[in-house]
Amino acid sequence: EVRVRFAPSPTGYLHLGGLRTALYNYLFARHSGGKFLLRIEDTDQTRLVPGATERLIEDLLWAGIEIDEGPGFGGAHGPYIQSQRRELYSQAVERLLENGSAYRCFCTERRLDLLRKDALRTRQVPRYDNKCRHLTPEQVQQQLDKGAPYCIRFKLTSHEEPLQDLIYGSVQHNVSETEGDPVIMKSDLYPTYHLANVVDDHLMGITHVLRGVEWQISTTKHLLLYKAFDWQPPQFGHLPLLVNADGSKLSKRQGDIGIKQFRDRGYFPTALINYIISAGGGFEHRSHSKPQLYSMQSLAEQFRLERVNAHPSRLNAELLNDYNQLELTARLADPLKRKQLVAHVQQLVQEAYPDHSDLDLAESHIEAVLHWSAQRLTLLQDLTSSKLSFLWVKPTQVVLKELSPAQWQQLLQQLQAESNFHKDQLNELLKGFAKAASIKFPALMKTLRGALSGLQEGPGVAEMMEILGKDVVLQRLQESLD
Ligand code: GLU
Repeated sequence: EVRVRFAPSPTGYLHLGGLRTALYNYLFARHSGGKFLLRIEDTDQTRLVPGATERLIEDLLWAGIEIDEGPGFGGAHGPYIQSQRRELYSQAVERLLENGSAYRCFCTERRLDLLRKDALRTRQVPRYDNKCRHLTPEQVQQQLDKGAPYCIRFKLTSHEEPLQDLIYGSVQHNVSETEGDPVIMKSDLYPTYHLANVVDDHLMGITHVLRGVEWQISTTKHLLLYKAFDWQPPQFGHLPLLVNADGSKLSKRQGDIGIKQFRDRGYFPTALINYIISAGGGFEHRSHSKPQLYSMQSLAEQFRLERVNAHPSRLNAELLNDYNQLELTARLADPLKRKQLVAHVQQLVQEAYPDHSDLDLAESHIEAVLHWSAQRLTLLQDLTSSKLSFLWVKPTQVVLKELSPAQWQQLLQQLQAESNFHKDQLNELLKGFAKAASIKFPALMKTLRGALSGLQEGPGVAEMMEILGKDVVLQRLQESLD
């Protein structure tokens, strides 16, 4: 059975890159009928952000990712939070010390600092010189007797085999030539990432590790750790970097904001997911000229690791809005979801106009607005922009000096009789009316605009009428007459 995991460190909130990693793992699990685990890697206690774990879970669930095993989700391989598994890491370290793959390092912070400075002075990459690897058992005992603090390091050996990366193919990094022996347990007895990650992937029965390519060098160390434990390693696949359309690094300005912020701005989860997977491959061929929205289930069916590209995944920021518009249209066509949209709009409008007690929030009115807006808007929030206030706020105090009450009645009757409430048709009607009544067209428009919106500007009057729909138009015009 396939078992994959998403293993975030709760040092910040979920961003696009993290969501992509979670999503690919999830789709891989769903495609193969396997399990998706969530594991919280919180061994670096100095970098924890309070509440980050809860937020991560909330964001994942919002995005439609279901967690089969994880903190609060049950599962036979818990606990799923690393700080609650320290005993297991200590046992693992014991084992490596016993079989000679790890050693105690008594080097002081001061010595390590000097090594770093020396390296920088000679323009070399700082690395530990593996000094304590060569301590005799007696020397170690002496230090222990003195009560000297120590950490545990793992011996990087040079017997590295190439990594068979599921996405990048055969990759070789000779870490033992470029790096000093890594710390696997700190002097405070907390494990480091490398140890805890390997021990947990093994104990949790992980079959495939899919993670960002920035971890690829670590993977070569992890393979050595598996060998030292004499454990069968999982298979590894590294996901290429997620970048902007021009190849530059994702930045906050270009949309690399927390998932919660996309949500708060009014993006739908399906839109965000289709956006993220639109870069990088993994699915059936898709047309770039005509974006199409896929459900999570369809994405899971299409997903193949062999289809993931090994070059950086370029995100086309415009696609997010396209996808959101598609989702908005799809929801409008579904009666139940339409009802939810209406309720959502009611809430957004009330929040946007807290001081108005007579907002136009009838269900039929909102539905008409939504139908009009589906092809034009990307976000529901846009409906509360000031340009569109006429949609919700009824005009007050209208001066109707251009039309006599009789003419006004006549116009109402014509509008009432109009079966095609479309802006072109309405324009014709209004022009004909102005001509017959000998009123200047611009003057008529100004009056109508005032009666319908109480505003001096905005969309064309006929368009405004189309958006508001016949009922609201007649109602507002009637009211300005009363
Ligand atoms: N805790 C690591 C992270 O923050 C996990 C990397 C991995 O998937 O092994 O991304």
